[in-house]
Amino acid sequence: MTLGILGGGQLGWMLGIAARRLGIDCVFLDPAESCTADLIGDRIRADYDDPRALAELARRCDVVTYEFENVPANAAASLAETVPVRPGWTSLETSQDRLVEKTFLARNGVPVPAFRAVDDLPSLEAAVAGIGTPSILKTRHGGYDGKGQVVIRDPAESSDAIERIGGRPAILEAMVEFDLEASVLVVRGADGTTRSWPPIRNRHADGILRRSECPAPGVPAQAESAMIEHATRIADALDHVGVLTVEFFVTGDQVLANEIAPRVHNSGHLTIEFSETDQFENHVRAVTGRELGPTDARHGRAIMLNAIGDAPSTGILADASVAMVDAEGAATTRASPVVDAVYHDYRKNPRPGRKVGHLTIASDEIDATRSDALAAMVPGALVD
Ligand code: AMP
Repeated sequence: MTLGILGGGQLGWMLGIAARRLGIDCVFLDPAESCTADLIGDRIRADYDDPRALAELARRCDVVTYEFENVPANAAASLAETVPVRPGWTSLETSQDRLVEKTFLARNGVPVPAFRAVDDLPSLEAAVAGIGTPSILKTRHGGYDGKGQVVIRDPAESSDAIERIGGRPAILEAMVEFDLEASVLVVRGADGTTRSWPPIRNRHADGILRRSECPAPGVPAQAESAMIEHATRIADALDHVGVLTVEFFVTGDQVLANEIAPRVHNSGHLTIEFSETDQFENHVRAVTGRELGPTDARHGRAIMLNAIGDAPSTGILADASVAMVDAEGAATTRASPVVDAVYHDYRKNPRPGRKVGHLTIASDEIDATRSDALAAMVPGALVD
């Protein structure tokens, strides 16, 4: 069995590690000069819509999946002529366009912030009049980590906001005063079976995820079950096969869906240490038609800290008894064999704002002094 993966970043690498554990080889397609996924599989170096590269990928693989949702429509369509592409087209097209996504969620009974389509200045002015301020203008396509978004605090800022998003098709959304942000990962098998992991609390700065924690502190039980129920219903409605991530705003017991990702997700990295079966393995199991693994917790708690812009010093990590993950995902340490913290190095060149690794602490009890000390060692991470 060979699995094709569009995208060779860290998500591809961790999918490849899980696949290898199941005896499955991976072939990646990515145009970059060097990729984290090169650590674990072969790569076709070409653009995502290169017809010869897509034909080669289809020929070499039994099934194809992806690590990012902005897969060009023509690439997905040409692959799907000869090889199953999972998750399928409905999941991709729904998550590629914020207007289609929010409309789909609302139609399926999932609460979302108030939103309106915006095509030009008159439609933005009408939307601002309807929704009020503060509100957020977001491009329909291609935004991530807070890119392609402008906050409008006063109707007079409308024309400037249109300019700042380059006049592209957009939606205006009500600004939600949430208590916290959380994500739910659900995996749906080829036979329609679903399993989910508990909600994860996420903290961002400058639109970039910095810190995730599970079980999610401060999330009432009612909000927790509502999020799992919504995520499962969305996966069923999309006829999704693989991992689906749904990001929510939580205010008391109330939850509003912000966005969906038809793929494994940064917030789910902690499932590697925290869960019986992690997001990557269950995604590979689902897309290759295998039975899903149990998602029960192996520890009481887990915290994931993203290294952004620069990697932590390996010497300092080793002194703090942090294990390092090797190319094939095995955690090694020079300290005791029982470690509570593991650093996953993506072997990327550091650049401002770039995710270059993550550190997970998983244990039954996490001492705040320990987690704060580790967070202080990881550039870009948030101390609690
Ligand atoms: P997004 O790209 O839609 O995930 O947005 C990035 C981040 O911007 C979110 O994680 C929130 O912190 C914030 N954000 C996005 N939409 C809203 C909203 N409607 N109300 C308040 N904050 C928002």
